[in-house]
Amino acid sequence: MKYDIVVVGSGLGGLECAHILSRFGKSVLVLEKGSQPGGCIQSYRRGRMLFDTGFHYVGGLGEGQSLHAAFKSLGLLRLPWVQLDRTFDRVTIGAHTFSFHQGYDVFVEALAADFPQELDGLKSYANLLRTVEEHQLDVLNPSLSETLLPAELFEKSAFQYLEETFHDEMLINVLSGTSLKMELRRESLPLFTFLHGNSSFIESSWRLQGDGSLIAASLANDIQAYGGKVVCHAEVQELVEKDGRLVQAICADGTVYEGDLFISDVHPAVTCSWIKQSQKLRKAYRTRVSGQENTFGMLTVSLVMKPQTLKYFNYNRYVYRHPDVWTFYQKDGPVGGILMACRMPEDGEYVRQVDLLTPMRWSECEPWSDTRVGRRGDAYKEMKERRADECIALAETVVPCFREMISARYVSTPLTYRDYTSTPQGSAYGMRKDFRNPMQTVLSPRTPIPNLYLTGQNLVLHGLHGVTMTSLFTCAEIVGKERIWNMLRDEA
Ligand SMILES: Cc1cc2nc3c(=O)[nH]c(=O)nc-3n(C[C@H](O)[C@H](O)[C@H](O)COP(=O)(O)OP(=O)(O)OC[C@H]3O[C@@H](n4cnc5c(N)ncnc54)[C@H](O)[C@@H]3O)c2cc1C
Repeated sequence: MKYDIVVVGSGLGGLECAHILSRFGKSVLVLEKGSQPGGCIQSYRRGRMLFDTGFHYVGGLGEGQSLHAAFKSLGLLRLPWVQLDRTFDRVTIGAHTFSFHQGYDVFVEALAADFPQELDGLKSYANLLRTVEEHQLDVLNPSLSETLLPAELFEKSAFQYLEETFHDEMLINVLSGTSLKMELRRESLPLFTFLHGNSSFIESSWRLQGDGSLIAASLANDIQAYGGKVVCHAEVQELVEKDGRLVQAICADGTVYEGDLFISDVHPAVTCSWIKQSQKLRKAYRTRVSGQENTFGMLTVSLVMKPQTLKYFNYNRYVYRHPDVWTFYQKDGPVGGILMACRMPEDGEYVRQVDLLTPMRWSECEPWSDTRVGRRGDAYKEMKERRADECIALAETVVPCFREMISARYVSTPLTYRDYTSTPQGSAYGMRKDFRNPMQTVLSPRTPIPNLYLTGQNLVLHGLHGVTMTSLFTCAEIVGKERIWNMLRDEA
């Protein structure tokens, strides 16, 4: 059978595109190399518990907010979302803890209480966050000839903006302190990426009662209900081009799938490596995507807590050893900052699962990068466990006796992510965007091959919010922006 659309990769981006296009009547096939759909939002089982890989919270789901219409049309508002506390993030730097509140005005008020002399700067920052929320979908709006987002947001350094807007170094670190959700790199991080990574969470922040695979399962079920197909254990190894267009995807087991149009949710450099012979994919494009750097990967410490020891807290904690939020992960030495997020208890007030996350440099994993899973030996295990211990020690600075409450722990590194999702260097957020060269580092969903499109976090934006925006952009290229805009308007 020949499909209208073959999607390679069932990460959030691939599933969302497949959902939208199958709903529009296209015959859609999703090919996933793993044993379950979801990519970074899949879960893994240890004993009787399911653990998340790459999802803890999402922003902007409230009515009228930035993700509401898209998630509604994707059927994802049916899931058991629970709003976090009004204070949804707490940033601890050394001995001081600062609170992030949901709602732009309250967000400003609360931080201005700690930094009264910075009230004007905080107000203008909140206005900029609002601008990003309101205009990020402008390119889909058929009544606008161009986006109202100022171009300088892409061409300006996030760090420079913060330095120009605020005087207090501590406030700059606090405002950056929830940004383990992106790569804080002075030399490259665009202001737009920084604002996007913060704004929707300030609109409103939500957790699932359950694990992230609920999202993948819901999308996959809907795709099948619309007549589409999601095939796991289907590792694409080659995309065949004929007369300048892709015609087939060939999988590792030799199965051949034919399609009119192909979408890849896999890293663009990996995608290009599947196309051996091409009239269209010139060396310049291949070099561009393979030469681009990737964001850091993550060390994740998934903890099982002893029963009745830790009360659930309905917010996230970001804990830093020193106020060097912009540089800590580039330095040698013990882990400098963590995100601490609880799994919402099924019943009762005590938590059974807590995740600790910290950025990890690829150089720490590199010695084992050519060794297969399960054969990495004691030195790799020792490195993982040492880093996990450091994360736990940092968590203990805000939750006394935390270590004693733990009954088991499972540690994954960027190598784990590389092996499961094929993302080069196990990068957590895909290709690094760079304000010094936005045209080069922000990729279009279109490629030089007219029937090959890209989607997912490597293109424009990352995270559940960003990947969803990108899926809308990819689908708009295929079915026209008016249809996507109307779909969102009908759900609003
Ligand atoms: C540790 C961590 C924590 C995170 N926490 C959050 C959070 O709390 N909130 C938030 O909004 N975002 C979070 N994110 C980011 C978010 O998870 C990602 O941005 C998003 O899920 C990426 O989706 P994607 O579709 O772009 O790619 P991926 O999830 O990487 O999907 C790519 C898919 O392609 C498949 N694939 C690869 N090669 C092949 C092949 N040859 N053939 C077939 N299939 C193939 C992979 O198996 C995978 O399923 C986190 C990320 C990480 C790593």
